Amino acid sequence: MTETGFDLTRRAALGVLSAAFAATAAGAEEPKMQIGENDILIVVDVQNDFLPGGSLAVPKGDEVIGPINALAKKFAHVIMTQDWHTPRHASFASTHSGKKPFETTALRYGTQVLWPDHCVQGSRGAALADALDIPKAELIIRKGYRVDTDSYSAFNEADRRPTGLAGYLKERGFRRVFCAGLATDFCVAWTAQDARGAGFEAVVIEDASRGIDNQGSLAAAWEAMGKAGVQRINSAAIA
Ligand SMILES: [Zn+2]
Repeated sequence: MTETGFDLTRRAALGVLSAAFAATAAGAEEPKMQIGENDILIVVDVQNDFLPGGSLAVPKGDEVIGPINALAKKFAHVIMTQDWHTPRHASFASTHSGKKPFETTALRYGTQVLWPDHCVQGSRGAALADALDIPKAELIIRKGYRVDTDSYSAFNEADRRPTGLAGYLKERGFRRVFCAGLATDFCVAWTAQDARGAGFEAVVIEDASRGIDNQGSLAAAWEAMGKAGVQRINSAAIA
């Protein structure tokens, strides 16, 4: 009894100590990332169809807008992407008879997840969110505009054909790419990994992104990004 009591007391004391240590560590000033002329923020697919009420709503997708607007002010250079599909696009479940959204099908470039119709060229759903406040954005790159080919990544379509973004960024001298937006486990993750593949440093800003998380896709995406050398940070890490 005494022994147990002592043990509990000792453990409690250790708990207090370790909690105090953790608080000190968290309070310590970590050096923040300095944003410079070679850095660019890519705002990925913050479009009406991916927001609550949209046809392919990402849970809490609207929560990225505030952090992204704040982040954009810290970057000298910002670009945005827009998912931009034809009607009857190959990535739409409705295009394939007998298929439902979130099922898969085999296309010529591999397995394609099938989605509800979304981001049809020129539609209200494809428009950038009204609450985005980034008038200085220098480029909007559209992707997924070929009827037979999807494109999660802003760098390469699903058949790996380049979009031209790597060339654009290299010609302008950018070396580090920061990605935020929708959805973490699809367009953000693929864009960040392809940025690495194209020779850029890549950073994903987690609190400025939200995931769909279809059948474990979010954890799988973080693992793949880690293996590709993508850094994972929160907005607070940026000076
Ligand atoms: Zn799409």
